[in-house]
Amino acid sequence: MGSVKDYFSSLGSGIASLLKGMQVTGKEFITPKITECYPENRETHKIPERFRAELRFIYDKDGNHRCIACGSCERACPNGTIHIDTKMVDTPAGTKKKKLDKYFYDLGSCTFCQMCVSVCPTTAIEFDNDFEQAVFTRSKLVKQLNYLPEKEEPAPTPEELAKAAAEREAKIAAAKAKAAAMKAAKEAAAAGTPAEGAPAQAAEKPETQENK
Ligand code: SF4
Ligand code: SF4
Repeated sequence: MGSVKDYFSSLGSGIASLLKGMQVTGKEFITPKITECYPENRETHKIPERFRAELRFIYDKDGNHRCIACGSCERACPNGTIHIDTKMVDTPAGTKKKKLDKYFYDLGSCTFCQMCVSVCPTTAIEFDNDFEQAVFTRSKLVKQLNYLPEKEEPAPTPEELAKAAAEREAKIAAAKAKAAAMKAAKEAAAAGTPAEGAPAQAAEKPETQENK
């Protein structure tokens, strides 16, 4: 008896589900259809702001980007779409600094997952919604994002040069002091082990024999 009740119960829920589906289909059937006449409507066609069409650098009004060449986006990309070349430059302080040389992005292999944007610590990259990216050659989909000329490192002031020289001298003096201390410790260790120990043992032995 229970199985007959279950049968009619599931039959009822099946019919209800079918009617619901037919309702959605019927509504779509009578809704007026819209056909986008692209490219004729290129001027009026609206693409959502958040549509991910292409990765790009964010430049400020002076044409500078914020990429620090940390490589986080390159490591986070699941399919090797990003390739970063770096270079070492001299800073006013007389030290070396890693900087971005070339930032390559292959639109042809991008899955638009946005993991690169999410991990960037300086918000240097973003997606724009320029969807018209069709080309005849695949190689043209590989783009260098840092296409604007790099800002030159500012020339060091005399104060900066003096400070850098003082820091360099201090480092050299510290290294020399450390080396001298290590050398002295080594010499002390060498002088205090087998050379001193051997005569001491030899002197103790005759005394022991005499006592016997
Ligand atoms: S959106 Fe995804 S696939 Fe495209 S470059 Fe960024 S991490 Fe790689
Ligand atoms: S774009 Fe961002 S995550 Fe990628 S290298 Fe530059 S700073 Fe690092």
